[in-house]
Amino acid sequence: MAVKIKFLGIAQDAGIPQIGCNCKVCSKIYRGERKEEYPVALGIINEKTGKKFMIEATPAFSKQYKKLIDIEKGEKLEGIILTHAHIGHYTGLMMLGREVLNTKRLKVFVSSKMGEFLKNNAPWNQLVKLDNIEIIEFKNRVPFVLDDGIEVTPIEVVHRNEYADTYGFLVKGEEKIFFVPDIDRWNGFEEDLNKLINECKKVIVDATFYTKEEIGKVRGRDLNEIPHPTIEETIKYVEDNKLPSEKIVFTHFNHTNMVLSNEEIRKSVEEKGFAISQEDMEILI
Ligand SMILES: [Zn+2]
Ligand SMILES: [Zn+2]
Ligand SMILES: [Zn+2]
Repeated sequence: MAVKIKFLGIAQDAGIPQIGCNCKVCSKIYRGERKEEYPVALGIINEKTGKKFMIEATPAFSKQYKKLIDIEKGEKLEGIILTHAHIGHYTGLMMLGREVLNTKRLKVFVSSKMGEFLKNNAPWNQLVKLDNIEIIEFKNRVPFVLDDGIEVTPIEVVHRNEYADTYGFLVKGEEKIFFVPDIDRWNGFEEDLNKLINECKKVIVDATFYTKEEIGKVRGRDLNEIPHPTIEETIKYVEDNKLPSEKIVFTHFNHTNMVLSNEEIRKSVEEKGFAISQEDMEILI
């Protein structure tokens, strides 16, 4: 019996189109020539117990819930695991409140800092007060059982932590995947990354930008304000260290990411063995 990991979205926090943007990619979506992309979230489907979980609760939570959960069959979501307190990763929790799903003690797995943030700030504290959610705190590098046959190990990573801290998740069924949608840089994480690439079937990584230059070109912003390892840097790192590129899956794409707009670049990434995540892509572990 396997565990299925399913992509429910592949974009950076804003989703694509990015609100207010008329770049090539966003415009195509407005014109109906390309599909919208939701912020990245993963479904975890335990084929042994039939239970379903989500990593991240994005602003597109309602749509992603519908993609994962067969409502007509009476299925429900059993729990949510959150990486960090940036808007694309947790604000979908608002849909659990009494105005919408009105869940009963839905398990939300978070770090203690994230737990404090949710318990002490409106509107999230209402979910706790009204028992819509039950906060279950995990600890850095301490595995916890998500469900029969699924273990999750949170691994803390460096990222802009205005409200709480940030984690990647090692999810273990019969095999393992690692998911890290946001990290500032690989520098300082190399030892972990090498080990994770070795032990996992797939490692799903932050690929917000293709190059350091693109955000300046398209949006006039400085990448130093928004650090992420670029796809170019990750490819170089994997190749320099002779790591297996076929284990790397890129995700969390900004609308400016050139793998979305430049067919040649996309092909060159794939020809090197790397995967570019797509909605509904599945990995069995
Ligand atoms: Zn993000
Ligand atoms: Zn755009
Ligand atoms: Zn973030």
